[in-house]
Amino acid sequence: MFGTEKARVVKSSSSSPGLVQSEPRENGTTLSSHSVINLDHGDPTMYETYWQRMGDKCTVVITGSQSLSYFVNMKNLCWFLQPELEESIKRLHRVVGNAVTKDYHVVVGTGSTQLFQAALYAISPSDAPEPASVVCAVPYYSLYADVTDFLRSGLYKWEGDAHGFDKDGAYIELVTSPNNPDGTTREAIVEPGGGEGKLIHDLAYYWPNFTPITKPADHDIMLFTASKCSGHAGSRIGWALVKDEDVAKKMSKFIELNTIGVSKESQLRAAKVLGVIADGCQYCDSLDSDDVFKYGKLIMSERWKKLRDVVGQSDLFSLPVYPKEYCNFMGKFTTSNPAFAWMKCNRLVEDCAEFLRGHKILTRSGVRFGVDSKHVRVSMVSNDEEFDLFIERLQAIQEISNGYHI
Ligand code: PMP
Repeated sequence: MFGTEKARVVKSSSSSPGLVQSEPRENGTTLSSHSVINLDHGDPTMYETYWQRMGDKCTVVITGSQSLSYFVNMKNLCWFLQPELEESIKRLHRVVGNAVTKDYHVVVGTGSTQLFQAALYAISPSDAPEPASVVCAVPYYSLYADVTDFLRSGLYKWEGDAHGFDKDGAYIELVTSPNNPDGTTREAIVEPGGGEGKLIHDLAYYWPNFTPITKPADHDIMLFTASKCSGHAGSRIGWALVKDEDVAKKMSKFIELNTIGVSKESQLRAAKVLGVIADGCQYCDSLDSDDVFKYGKLIMSERWKKLRDVVGQSDLFSLPVYPKEYCNFMGKFTTSNPAFAWMKCNRLVEDCAEFLRGHKILTRSGVRFGVDSKHVRVSMVSNDEEFDLFIERLQAIQEISNGYHI
């Protein structure tokens, strides 16, 4: 039903591997036994086949005279937000049932990465003697630490693991649910002690292809991104649903000063894509339908099954197990099939990322997520060819491990 797309790969060489796009080979594949597969980034190329199948449904034509002005609607709190995008976002959340939008303000950003920074700026006290502490329970999304401290802001400072955090003063807890890297459903864990606490909920993966939708989320600040919902990471569109008007205004101000708004072309494209997704969910209900979430769920559950089958052949690696929960969107009990596999190497190998790199599989070390080097995060959203090669190589590792008891 869904053909295999050409793979983007990292070519192996005798020196260190670089990000080189390989040339297609004669048999139509691009990977060879020498290719290094890059499963370090969560690059959502898995969705390419779906969007190819959708043909021209999402084509957006933008003429030379369009989008000249910086401005969209100065009466709107987020003055650079395209009304078409706001409408598509609200409709999609209504159809999927994963977030409340009534009485929320929509703020658009250049990816949710920009909105994360806008939110930190908006909720950090501006007059505190010390920067607000930014914390997140381990294992946490590796970019939070890098982005938070990149500009050495006087407003906020990365303080690492939220477990046991008890510093006085203002703090911001980041709650990623489902979590990147381990796919678990999360809630805030810091007990407010001497300081004032604020929360940012990163719901990038709260979509029914990855996890059961158990209720519409209704937190103060919720971040979403097209990167994980539709797979259009390259369009760089994210959105925040924000309860408090002043916080939404401050987030918009951050984006005004940071990039004077957000690309109108990207917003129009995202509006179209999200609208087509909402149509697909509303009007179809078979597995062969246009529903991107049912498509995604099918692919993800096949991939997880293949991975669990190979990992289950020995005790060398282990994977988290997820509970079955009722998914309101699917109308049945489902299990999470996260965008990343959080894999642990149980014996002999101390540095799992280094070990897999030796087998031409690039992953992200657990150390980057505040944990240890026995863990790695492996992207499950690459294209079919890369994923299949990953499984093949893992199978070979298992055979050696079983044969030689490494
Ligand atoms: N939050 C989480 C938890 C993510 O995994 C990612 C992407 N890896 C982002 C935010 C960033 O998304 P965007 O591409 O919209 O900047």
